[in-house]
Amino acid sequence: MQRELNAYISQKISVSPELIILRIIPDGWDLPDFEPGQYAVIGLPGSAPRIELCDPEEDTNPDKFILRAYSIASASVHKEYLELYIALVRSGSLTPRLFALEAGDQIHLAPKMKGVFILDKIPVRKNVVMLGTGTGLAPYMSMIRSALRPGSGRRFAVIHGARHSWDLGYRSELITLNGMMDNFSYIPIISRPDAELTPWGGITGYVQDVWEMDIIRRNWGFEPTPDNTHIFLCGNPGMIESALDVLGKHNFIEHNRKQDGQIHLEKYW
Ligand SMILES: Cc1cc2nc3c(=O)[nH]c(=O)nc-3n(C[C@H](O)[C@H](O)[C@H](O)COP(=O)(O)OP(=O)(O)OC[C@H]3O[C@@H](n4cnc5c(N)ncnc54)[C@H](O)[C@@H]3O)c2cc1C
Repeated sequence: MQRELNAYISQKISVSPELIILRIIPDGWDLPDFEPGQYAVIGLPGSAPRIELCDPEEDTNPDKFILRAYSIASASVHKEYLELYIALVRSGSLTPRLFALEAGDQIHLAPKMKGVFILDKIPVRKNVVMLGTGTGLAPYMSMIRSALRPGSGRRFAVIHGARHSWDLGYRSELITLNGMMDNFSYIPIISRPDAELTPWGGITGYVQDVWEMDIIRRNWGFEPTPDNTHIFLCGNPGMIESALDVLGKHNFIEHNRKQDGQIHLEKYW
């Protein structure tokens, strides 16, 4: 299929040296409808420059497009731009090139958004717990920005894990929502508190630990069970495997083509 630079960067926000938020606007065409939780495919040709803060690359075909999937972080009701939350993989092919982009630069955006990691699959009366590591927060931002309503009986909890507090993207937006909405809980967790410049007063460890720490029950005031709650897992495959083990002990089962379950997952690699 013919690839083209059919979109451009409208804004680049640096969260940390290795985390960016990119806003992308189609060039002369409309963003398609999408479901919160779906991903976009973006790309650049091999000839696109790489940032210095990355490993050297050998034998790149300058004409070949490098395409990768990124969960959409923007709300599905806002069609002004598409927002993506991206981590630098220093040895990677595409991310060193994405990090070199600036506002106004061109990019390829596939015209159709894809994926079945979506909120719409969950019965409306069920509560939702969203566990994510790093940029695995992105689909939850779209879900929260699209579906969180004040006063609805349904509860949402976002549990976001990162190494350091400065890697917790979208933190101020999520803290604000946590303060404003009775039905929303934001639980950030860091795994390397010793590296913090000021002492970290929050939870330390890994996102899959929250179940054993009983944090959601204490936050919600009732036990999340397979009868009342569905769980999303997104990001690092190691976290997803560990979380499946922990949740299995509490009788949650994975949802897939063969069985209806309460655990929905998206592995990034
Ligand atoms: C459905 C889906 C949605 C995704 N959404 C996002 C997103 O919202 N944000 C995002 O940053 N990434 C996301 N990814 C990952 C993304 O598609 C790329 O794989 C990633 O950006 C690396 O691309 P690259 O070309 O730089 O590295 P590549 O050359 O493709 O990868 C080099 C190697 O790095 C490892 N790797 C890939 N991603 C990571 C990572 N994040 N951290 C550590 N190691 C990694 C893998 O082992 C891979 O083989 C998603 C992946 C999928 C399948």
